[in-house]
Amino acid sequence: MSLRSNDLRGRKALITGASRGIGRAIAESLASAGAEVVCTSTREGGCDATLEAIRAAGGSAKALAADVADPNALKELARAAAEGGAPNILVNNAGITRDGTFLRMGAEEFDTVISVNLRAAFLLAQALVRPMLKVDAPRMIFVGSVVGLTGNAGQANYAASKAGLLGLARSLAKEFGSRGLTANVVAPGFIETDMTAGLSDDVREAARTKIPLGRLGTPEDIADMVCFLAGDSGAYVTGQALVVDGGMTL
Ligand code: NAP
Repeated sequence: MSLRSNDLRGRKALITGASRGIGRAIAESLASAGAEVVCTSTREGGCDATLEAIRAAGGSAKALAADVADPNALKELARAAAEGGAPNILVNNAGITRDGTFLRMGAEEFDTVISVNLRAAFLLAQALVRPMLKVDAPRMIFVGSVVGLTGNAGQANYAASKAGLLGLARSLAKEFGSRGLTANVVAPGFIETDMTAGLSDDVREAARTKIPLGRLGTPEDIADMVCFLAGDSGAYVTGQALVVDGGMTL
């Protein structure tokens, strides 16, 4: 018996929020496994560096711009991404934080985070699910967070949005599993990206000491799990939260 490969040649992947950080690493990894990737970010030219890196490594990529908080822009994004064939792999990665203590958190901060992190994932999955059911090995992968499983003081909006992604993925897994579609959440711990770059050295060091593997995560740590799920290796995994946190939440 041999291990199943992660060869993604002939497959197409759409990754939201691929201009930098985790999304960029996912786009580069899927492209290096042979997928034709479509990268998105909020503005034209935002994914130029990602495209350059992918093309320099011999991969195939194009970019689309859309603010995923805008339902009309999302609809157009789904249409443009499915041109020439629906994606086999949808990675809902775009995400934001608007942290604040619970009693001071306004409804606007709550809604903003929900609309980017959760509503956009729902709308994009809904726009693409029918065409994706017609292609080989359809995979929906949602980038959640460990705080969606544990909660976090100061992040009620963000934690709720990430917990919501798990409910969304599990519902998709049950509703479309019989048609071959898998839906999972990858839940990162503390990863070194722009999102965490603003945290003080003290906060980073405090986080590091709670991580059994003794280091913060890298975007590539997350991309490897996404590649596993996207390939034949992930064929029998659905409705799960795959935690990639160096043991931080143990
Ligand atoms: P990042 O470096 O801040 O990058 C965020 C990405 O999302 C960028 O490509 C950004 O595009 C895009 N984006 C933000 N708002 C958008 C919008 N309204 N419409 C379209 N695209 C938008 O973040 P990251 O750390 O790589 O995080 C990626 C994902 O992992 C997020 O869902 C985040 O919640 C999750 N996560 C991160 C960590 C961590 O420790 N870093 C931990 C757990 C989970 P622009 O460049 O155009 O702004």
